[in-house]
Amino acid sequence: MRIARAIRLLDRALAPARRAGRRVVFVPTMGALHEGHASLIRLARRRAGARGVVVVSVFVNAPQFNQRSDFTKYPRTLAADSVLCRRAGADLLFAPSATDMYPPSHSTWVSEEALSLPLCGARRPGHFRGVCTVVLKLFNLVRPTEAIFGLKDFQQAALLQRMTRDLNVPVRIVCAPVVREADGLAMSSRNRRLTPRGRRLAALLNGALAFARWRFLRGERRPSRLLADARRLLRVPGLRVEYLDLVRSSTLRPSPRATRGDTLALAAWVEGVRLIDNLRL
Ligand code: AMP
Repeated sequence: MRIARAIRLLDRALAPARRAGRRVVFVPTMGALHEGHASLIRLARRRAGARGVVVVSVFVNAPQFNQRSDFTKYPRTLAADSVLCRRAGADLLFAPSATDMYPPSHSTWVSEEALSLPLCGARRPGHFRGVCTVVLKLFNLVRPTEAIFGLKDFQQAALLQRMTRDLNVPVRIVCAPVVREADGLAMSSRNRRLTPRGRRLAALLNGALAFARWRFLRGERRPSRLLADARRLLRVPGLRVEYLDLVRSSTLRPSPRATRGDTLALAAWVEGVRLIDNLRL
């Protein structure tokens, strides 16, 4: 596996594959990689086949953070990340610098204006503008045939699909399932900032969503009841729910009546760490 730490080195590394018309499958990340990311890279490897190229990017994208402290505290573990990438089957790790990605005069931004408004978009102004901008830039640099995104960030996956369709970006977006710890907690780079107690509280997030889904499977169709049931389980000291909603998966608008295929979406704070999770009914 090769590592390219600058845009010009990325071009050089990808030139032979591009000339030969090989498949390029891309997994964008912010690093601090874990088993969730590894599952995306392994999927990319399978989709690229033996002749294709799997590219992973590691870039902590400042514009998508709306709190400076969250950005500075974001774990940076490039040496371990490169080991994980190699083991999971990546061919190339692209880890550009901030100035390579955003030269001082950078002044162009990409905004999606429907799917980015509710849920995380309503609480993190500018977050999805930062995401769309960096992903489009990475697409233009890597020029992948396919890109893989995790459903852990299901709103992000939905709006990146919308962005590529709306802007005619020639890339196929592939979504991969959420990888969880044994107790149901969705794996996240931010989990490593939790103490053992915080880690136990964090496991309640998935428990609450699973309970609401169980109530749905038993026949409850009123969103207010499903959400109230889940909220009750989350009413514990040390855990603060930021939002808990039931939405239609295609529009991300509130669901008037719970229907199979809707998504329960949740964001909560534990020990100053913002965690998100979701579950499809
Ligand atoms: P991040 O590094 O957190 O920006 O995530 C990079 C990619 O990995 C995104 O497409 C995420 O949705 C995906 N991802 C992160 N955690 C998980 C997980 N637990 N399961 C599946 N995909 C994940």
